[in-house]
Amino acid sequence: MTDARGGFSVKPPDELLAALRGRPETVLCLGHVHPDGDVLGTLLGFGLALGAVGSAVTFAGPHPVPEVLDFLPGADRWTVWKTAPERFDLIVMTDCPNPDRSEGLLEGARSAGGRVINIDHHPDNRRYGTIDWIDPSAAATGEMIFDLVKALGLRITPAVALNLFTAIHTDTGSFRYSNTTPRTFRIAAELTAAGADPSLVSDRLYQQRGRDTLTQLGEVLRRVEVSEDGRVAWLTVPRGLVSREFLDAEDLVGYPRSIGGVKVAVLLREDEPGRVKASLRAKGEVPVNAIAHRFGGGGHENAAGCTLSGTLEEATAELLAAVKDAMSSERAR
Ligand code: 5GP
Ligand code: MN
Repeated sequence: MTDARGGFSVKPPDELLAALRGRPETVLCLGHVHPDGDVLGTLLGFGLALGAVGSAVTFAGPHPVPEVLDFLPGADRWTVWKTAPERFDLIVMTDCPNPDRSEGLLEGARSAGGRVINIDHHPDNRRYGTIDWIDPSAAATGEMIFDLVKALGLRITPAVALNLFTAIHTDTGSFRYSNTTPRTFRIAAELTAAGADPSLVSDRLYQQRGRDTLTQLGEVLRRVEVSEDGRVAWLTVPRGLVSREFLDAEDLVGYPRSIGGVKVAVLLREDEPGRVKASLRAKGEVPVNAIAHRFGGGGHENAAGCTLSGTLEEATAELLAAVKDAMSSERAR
């Protein structure tokens, strides 16, 4: 049964199933830069399921697991690489539209004749795999990996379930965003039945703030600005204002997004002098991935990101001009 939105189960491509049924000996579950809940939950969940039937699975990426996600089962096996130390028969990448986001690890870990499996829900995925499975109707790559694990007849242990549940929980903003469908809830229900504890996930993601976190949050939130017409809200975070851990753990762009009437919300954070990371969020009216593409980034219609060069002020002016542009052309349609 295959159905784009709201369908109850999606069948992974036969070619993918055949490759995985061949029981690859060495598997690398490879993450991209600054891994989030969907990347880590899917790589760890899938890797643990494959490991249980005999594959030797390695988990690695260019950046570590952020502290807020270190409760994920298998996170203690995650290794951070600058270069790939060995080669693998099969490399699995999830939730990664662009292979460059592995910072060269993909090419380094690929053996002669080794296969790359690319599983993702980003519409702008570059189809860099030996086998690509791209389903933009999935709210999270977690939904796809759930259907894949089931199709392969692998066991959904509580550890696998917790990983996949967290992947879906984070990418749907706790089941609040417009990408949430009947399929999302059907899968979440099955994962809960298999041992994922929704209250544990909420507790780890939202109820473990450090004592100084609310002070940092206060510092940051008074910087929110709103355009005169009330349709754009943004937040700029200069380098050194708050800690890296704080930035990784908090969904800061959600605050400007939460203002009524706002159609596009933007977070701009100065990661390094001259380099600004932007996050864009929309509510269905302006596809923000088109804006991110203008700056070499990407993402989904309602959640996208890119990196700009220049000072925080310059990057903010440039990005807001692009947002304004996109909004007026959307209105003209
Ligand atoms: P976030 O704003 O949470 O970093 O990312 C939101 C969405 O935009 C995610 O789907 C993410 O993959 C995508 N995204 C964020 N930054 C970049 C980027 O620099 N390049 C690309 N291609 N996608 C990005
Ligand atoms: Mn995702």
